[in-house]
Amino acid sequence: MTDPTSARVAGHYFDGRTSARRAVALTLDAFGVVHVQGSDVDRFEPMAGISVSEPLGGAPRLLMFRDGAYCEVPAQPDRDAFVAALGHSDSHVVRAQSRWSWVAGSAILLLVVIAVGYRFGLPWLAEKIAERIPASIVATLSDQTLALLDRAAFDPSKLPEGRRNRIAEQFRQLTPPGGVPVPHEVLFRASPEIGANALALPSGTIIVTDELVKLTENDAEILAVLTHELGHVHERHGLRLLVESSVVGFVLTWYIGDVSSLAASVPAALLQARFSREHEAAADAYGANMLKSNGLSPALLASMLEKLEASHGSPGAAADDKSINDYLASHPATRERIEALRKR
Ligand SMILES: [Zn+2]
Repeated sequence: MTDPTSARVAGHYFDGRTSARRAVALTLDAFGVVHVQGSDVDRFEPMAGISVSEPLGGAPRLLMFRDGAYCEVPAQPDRDAFVAALGHSDSHVVRAQSRWSWVAGSAILLLVVIAVGYRFGLPWLAEKIAERIPASIVATLSDQTLALLDRAAFDPSKLPEGRRNRIAEQFRQLTPPGGVPVPHEVLFRASPEIGANALALPSGTIIVTDELVKLTENDAEILAVLTHELGHVHERHGLRLLVESSVVGFVLTWYIGDVSSLAASVPAALLQARFSREHEAAADAYGANMLKSNGLSPALLASMLEKLEASHGSPGAAADDKSINDYLASHPATRERIEALRKR
């Protein structure tokens, strides 16, 4: 009895005991029985007793019988239909991989895992690592960065030495928040290129440009900027950012295969450091606390932020002025910060 819908494929039969390879035809009848037929093979096997290997690229599918015998079925037009008729359904993963939506879903999930790791895991890791970096290394990194800045962007300060000493001394007299001293040193540099700015190196060296001093009406405004910078030092923001960019840089250079360039890039990484909104807000909060506990107003810092913003071009000015973008990139949400400080 033959069924007109019976599926038929060609393959090779192995009895599982010898290496003899016999060309056979396999048919599946309407009763669910596979007939394996060749020159010296004639075998009937209920399909319930046959297991089928997973599809593996262009490899033949194996139909395995319970007694150890098996058939190899190479790729051919009717093979998929034959395997499907055997009632074999490919495993979940194989089917899922062939479905575009599942592939897209896994890719998105992977991106989310990477993004969350980058956003939360990396800062956390950086904080833990930054806490453990020995002071001697922090000092060396900071000295190298200052040397690089002095070569590339800074000129000696033109402010009278007495003025510089007076500002540094006034700042030393301020009580830090919680009475916890933060080792620091205030330096002055001229920098027509950078303009009005202040920055803190991880060692506690705070550099103020002559251009910033010229923006101020009184020394209290300079002190306000210094309290903010001391906040960055206290919170180890520079180190944390350095570690973050080093981790990313290390992974990238490891991937590209040139680790030697990494050490040389450290000072540059410190210079290009862009503090996050969270870091700026934390430094503002530290500065505001320090100002208040010394009888000064946090509004001093707010007005300095306004002056700095204006000196680098306000957001309303000509959009093609490159300095605006540079300033805004390094000072996220200045407006928000000014308002938060005014409320303190
Ligand atoms: Zn800052």
